[in-house]
Amino acid sequence: MSRIVELIRRKRDGHELSASEIDELILDDVPDYQLAAFLMAVYFKGLSSSETFALTDAMVRSGEQIELHAAIGRRVVDKHSTGGVGDKATLAVGPVVAACGIPFGKMSGRGLGHTGGTLDKLESIPGFRVELSTEDFVAQVRDIGIAVVGQSADLVPADKKLYALRDVTATVDNVSLIAASIMSKKIASGADAIVLDVKVGDGAFMKTVADATLLAEAMIALGRHAGRDVVCELTDMSQPLGQAVGNALEVREALATLRGEGPDDLTELVLGAAAHLLALSDLGVGVEEGRRLAERAVADGTAVDTYERWVRAQGGDPDETLLPKAPAIAEAFAPHDGYVQSLSALHIGVEALELGAGRATKEDAIDHSVGIVCRKKRGDAVEEGEPLAEVHARDPQTAADAAERVRAAYVIGDEAPHAVPIVLDTIG
Ligand code: URA
Repeated sequence: MSRIVELIRRKRDGHELSASEIDELILDDVPDYQLAAFLMAVYFKGLSSSETFALTDAMVRSGEQIELHAAIGRRVVDKHSTGGVGDKATLAVGPVVAACGIPFGKMSGRGLGHTGGTLDKLESIPGFRVELSTEDFVAQVRDIGIAVVGQSADLVPADKKLYALRDVTATVDNVSLIAASIMSKKIASGADAIVLDVKVGDGAFMKTVADATLLAEAMIALGRHAGRDVVCELTDMSQPLGQAVGNALEVREALATLRGEGPDDLTELVLGAAAHLLALSDLGVGVEEGRRLAERAVADGTAVDTYERWVRAQGGDPDETLLPKAPAIAEAFAPHDGYVQSLSALHIGVEALELGAGRATKEDAIDHSVGIVCRKKRGDAVEEGEPLAEVHARDPQTAADAAERVRAAYVIGDEAPHAVPIVLDTIG
């Protein structure tokens, strides 16, 4: 029996593999069909914590590792979200943290399926370049204090291969595999401290707080093992974050948040994440003082100034009036008086995807102008005929049809529902 077949068989039968055996699977040239079988064995039998450490470590060593700390000469912070609907937090958290004097370097991804991606949102800004060489990325973090770029092709190539296989073999939703995938990229891209936003709800990978807690604990352990400080915030993704869903619409909302005029849930999430990042930085402040500094950067305009410097540094024009606008807008109206009981993040994310704001396959093109603005959110009182949401689309018929379906995403009841905080828990 070949060596790789033997390793797959051992995992299939529930045995623990050693670090060097996991290295063979990840770093040798193993054919896709054998890796796919290995992933399915992992899906059913799980990985121990030692195996998850070894898998993450092998994935990190599969490609380039960026020594950000050494290149910048001080601690660098990063944030990451496990993915949701309307999640434009990075566009605001980065400038707030950088405005407080802390270097913020982030490699982001593109949207796939109903969840959006930071790179697509940034590309709705005219001229913005997300492809920077590793040298230019590091230089921009050093000189401007903030850079957000696409992941370098050499960073964790093993994740690209494994993720593509997981995607087509129904093995994405395994806690060890998700934790190793996310943390290998965070560790290889070099930040010393990471705030992880673990989304919970129908629009997220993790549907329950219990599952999100398991993922958070696994990622914190992997970060610590690699000498990184990690804090996880579990945040609500049962409804979209903020009001805007769709690329240019989300950039506008992030800018409003940087000016102190953003929706409450997004503002809370951004200030909270910034506070944790500042507390993990070399500023020598705690979370409360970090929060105060983040609020001051918004209030005194330095957060918006930093956003503008950042956008210009990456070739973009920060003038908000230049963001693309969809030609047609239709509204979805409340069918009767009451309170919004729920507004499915998944439903809204799928509608935005259908409008062209996202991509169903990696090759699809995106329309940066289209999307949905959810004027009413859970707990809001509504009157019959009042607008619940706006649909921004490429033509009037598409806008009207989508508005009808968006209305169906809202559940309106007689009683105000219990309030759900945006941050459900903080771990680490
Ligand atoms: N995001 C990632 O980068 N990897 C996963 O496996 C899931 C979400």
